[in-house]
Amino acid sequence: EQIANQIAAGEVVERPSSVVKELVENSIDAGSTKIDIVIEEGGLQSIRVTDNGSGIEKEDCELAFLPHATSKISSSKDLFQIRSLGFRGEALPSISAVSKMSCITSTENTGLGYKVVNEGGVLKAVEETRASKGTDITVKELFYNTPARLKYVKTIQTELGHISDYIYRLALAYPDIRFTLTHNGKTLLQTLGNGDLLQVIAAIYGRTVAKAMIQVTGSNMDYSLSGYIAKPEMTRSNRSSISFIVNGRYIRNPFLNKAILNAYHTLLPIHRYPICVLHIQMDPTLLDVNVHPAKLEVRFSKEKELMVFLEQELRKSLQKQVL
Ligand code: ADP
Ligand code: MG
Repeated sequence: EQIANQIAAGEVVERPSSVVKELVENSIDAGSTKIDIVIEEGGLQSIRVTDNGSGIEKEDCELAFLPHATSKISSSKDLFQIRSLGFRGEALPSISAVSKMSCITSTENTGLGYKVVNEGGVLKAVEETRASKGTDITVKELFYNTPARLKYVKTIQTELGHISDYIYRLALAYPDIRFTLTHNGKTLLQTLGNGDLLQVIAAIYGRTVAKAMIQVTGSNMDYSLSGYIAKPEMTRSNRSSISFIVNGRYIRNPFLNKAILNAYHTLLPIHRYPICVLHIQMDPTLLDVNVHPAKLEVRFSKEKELMVFLEQELRKSLQKQVL
């Protein structure tokens, strides 16, 4: 059974950033307003995620490490209206199968909670401990028992790049959450969690960029748009400067990228990519839910309409700026 768990784990836990992703998404699902991520050696030595969310009940604490222990879906109908990030209950057991993991958690403000220690998918200890409300999970020695997976992991710098890219995206998606990201003792990101998207943009791209952003807002029957786009002169060579957050979830979609570039091109020909951070809210039934939850690609049922809306709104904002 242990081996089966390790094989299954490979699907969820590909590299250190997969662990960070699963842990931080759980923190978000638990309603946290403050999430601290502390990484050592690209995540290979240690990954620690501390949140101030709901915490995990004692019974669930042990269960959470067993396969398919999700508490987020009560009927198959829920699958069509997914609002939380996780819903398969595979993450914690998968991570614990290939690491040494400890979890300290509390659901109350009593100063007491539980500590659960796992090693290679084997429950080592459950004990009462001092704990503040929330959850604090440490994953050490990732892939220590799966040498083949370990070999696949790239340099510390590459792994850190994946982790920080991911945290930046989350910070842009959740300006209400206070994030810190630390690597080998160095702070890489600190957001305020005060809901100010521009502050998050400044924390990631720098103040100069943030000062050169144009605010965008707009809505129609189906969509509501808000965010910031760069003045045309502040472009980058990198396509990933464009961030879309749909219903709170960071996504990628080539048609939306195209709509952005079209809007800029009607004003002046740019040969690079603008920095854009755009939040779009829509009825979740307009999204294709059959897309794999781990993937960023999302399809829209009214793709063309969305493109037209987006292009129009951005063009309006850009024109105001130029005039
Ligand atoms: P899923 O997120 O798909 O439900 P996970 O394996 O990621 O599955 O987590 C299992 C369960 O453990 C979650 O459903 C949740 O109830 C609980 N859990 C995990 N992490 C946290 C956290 N940081 N705060 C509160 N509950 C958590
Ligand atoms: Mg999860």
